Amino acid sequence: MARILVTGGAGFIGSHLCERFLKEGHEVICVDNLLTGDRDNISHLFGYRNFTFLEQDVTHYVYVSGDLDAIMHFASPASPVDYLELPIQTLKVGSLGTHNALGLAKAKNARILVASTSEVYGDPLIHPQTEDYWGNVNPIGPRGVYDEAKRFLEAMTMAYHRTHGVQTRIVRIFNTYGPRMRMRDGRVVPNFICQALKGEPLTVYGEGDQTRSFCYVDDLVEGLIRLLWSDDLGPVNIGNPNEMTILQFAEKIIELSESTSTIDYRPLPEDDPKVRQPDITKAKSVLGGWEPKVSLDQGLRSTIEYFKQRLAMTA
Ligand code: UDP
Repeated sequence: MARILVTGGAGFIGSHLCERFLKEGHEVICVDNLLTGDRDNISHLFGYRNFTFLEQDVTHYVYVSGDLDAIMHFASPASPVDYLELPIQTLKVGSLGTHNALGLAKAKNARILVASTSEVYGDPLIHPQTEDYWGNVNPIGPRGVYDEAKRFLEAMTMAYHRTHGVQTRIVRIFNTYGPRMRMRDGRVVPNFICQALKGEPLTVYGEGDQTRSFCYVDDLVEGLIRLLWSDDLGPVNIGNPNEMTILQFAEKIIELSESTSTIDYRPLPEDDPKVRQPDITKAKSVLGGWEPKVSLDQGLRSTIEYFKQRLAMTA
């Protein structure tokens, strides 16, 4: 069994990773400074003897005693609203935090998987996005703090691999949703579901004709685990190619939550990508036939259920 450190382990994806590793019998060290992570996401994991939580900021030196077999570097704000509010922390965790995580991997001779993003493609001129596309990013726009931090993360990761021979893996994560997203993180999934459940209008930005492709978190986690133990350095896109417009997505959420909400059109944020869809040909081939299994209806139903419970707790 492996000893695995997860940075951002109290976040949305990080907490699902911690849980999956613990269920497989591994030892998990979860590091999180709780800036956008939440102790509630991991409270059910404290019963595992093999689980440790360290409240630490990965942008500072990370000290872990003993050996490590693997590191999953998932610490970062990930919602456009969050990184607009936390631009410097977002840049620091993608750069200094990644440097520390890679340094730790080198010192412990551990393999490391780093979380990159479809945002490295910016507002893409190639559709769907393949891993060999270099992207169309505005470095000085509001989203640049996240996009460039993640592009730096990829460059630094390859430098550690080439210079120090560290066993690195890069994943480019496309829009992912599921339980444990923060209710007020500003992303489209929690926004629309909470609005629909409260009977408030759904805030569609622009005309709602921009597209996204949504992947359920369990499908993502399965791909991440396969990538960690695979021989492929990446980058590998992981996501669900089921693309739709944001207006269609709003209508789907109104339907599944049996809501009477209407649509409220709001201004489109600056640099909002017009299209996004992962080409997952590479993932399928290098991750042993991996592909998303959870349908949008199934995934949204369990996510709606989660937000119903959260809203009931805060009522
Ligand atoms: N969006 C929206 N209403 C909201 C939140 C987001 O129409 O209340 C749109 C946003 O403009 C973008 C898409 O939904 O086109 C996805 O936004 P999100 O913040 O989830 O992440 P992104 O994919 O842009 O990184």
